[in-house]
Amino acid sequence: MQEELLNSVIKITKTRDIDSLEYSLLSTIQELVGCQHLCVYKNFNTQEDLAVERSIGLTMHGEREFEWLDRQVIEQPQSELISCLQSSCIITVQNADGIEKRWLPINIHETPVGAIEVHSGGLNSNEQVLLNAFVRIYENYLTILHENERDKLTGLLNRQTFEKKLKQLLEKQVIKQNRHIRDEQDPRTFHQGATSWLAMIDIDHFKQVNDNYGHVCGDEVLLLVAQKMQQFFRSTDLLFRFGGEEFVLVFEPTDQASIEAKLEQFLTLIRNTHFPFVKTLTVSAGLARISPYDFPINVLENADRALYYAKENGRDQVAFFETLLNANKLERHDEGSGIDLF
Ligand code: GH3
Ligand code: MG
Ligand code: MG
Repeated sequence: MQEELLNSVIKITKTRDIDSLEYSLLSTIQELVGCQHLCVYKNFNTQEDLAVERSIGLTMHGEREFEWLDRQVIEQPQSELISCLQSSCIITVQNADGIEKRWLPINIHETPVGAIEVHSGGLNSNEQVLLNAFVRIYENYLTILHENERDKLTGLLNRQTFEKKLKQLLEKQVIKQNRHIRDEQDPRTFHQGATSWLAMIDIDHFKQVNDNYGHVCGDEVLLLVAQKMQQFFRSTDLLFRFGGEEFVLVFEPTDQASIEAKLEQFLTLIRNTHFPFVKTLTVSAGLARISPYDFPINVLENADRALYYAKENGRDQVAFFETLLNANKLERHDEGSGIDLF
């Protein structure tokens, strides 16, 4: 048993990203405690209201048959889950059919960020100790991984995680599309031909903020812009702080009109926000299409060229790379033409 326990800890702490950590945690709990159903929930709203999504789930259909459950927004979370997230306390209920349901809070720096749900036939005290210990190991490790992936000032994802996160998002997209083709799901929930989008957003005349009000005020403005992004965009969109006052956003598949409208709304939000010291602040955005078969570096370059165009043509606007190309406002680069070999 001791050896099994140590191997489980080694397995959990071997992973280097949050998705595989959750996967390892659920399979470990299942192996050690034996449950019918397990889920990791995340509260993705950093503000006052709760917004819950299931990050991953595992349902056992028999001794050896099981099913992994995908990420899904939970429109109406169970009241016990809400209580667990709000109180940071373990909640347990016993159903008439003998099923025990248990919710254990997950905290990062004393803030509840999620919960683990466990359905079992009832846990004895040893199993409860094991379960609690593994949730605490997960919590500690999650805190470290979370800090490593994030920019210190804004809490957004950092540039070093860009390639990895993008790859994961695009892989999920391919899996979803393949599943759709296989299952012929409801076409209303699936945009045929929809692609992901990458936007590069840069604060306009940010140097002046630093020059006029100092670096501390500049930092405060950066933090507020990042918070606005987190509140405005979906939890499934990837938000990176790429450099000083430059952000890269990756959006899940949607049509061009929707993504352009969304970015325009964000620009309006920033234009109308009252920032401390700085009376007005605007941002510019360059948008480019991204498919699982593109090289990230090329898409970044496309978005950057569109952003440059937006800057050159008055700032406070969204420029879309493909539209600029079709209108001959940007030159078409032949593949490889931007690479200097010598
Ligand atoms: P543009 O509209 O063309 O983007 O002009 P800009 O002034 O925003 O761009 P520029 O690249 O000339 O200046 C960016 C400034 O961002 C320069 C640098 O002092 C500031 N900056 C970069 N990183 C940080 C940071 O972490 N904190 C603060 N306060 N300022 C930063
Ligand atoms: Mg700038
Ligand atoms: Mg810049």
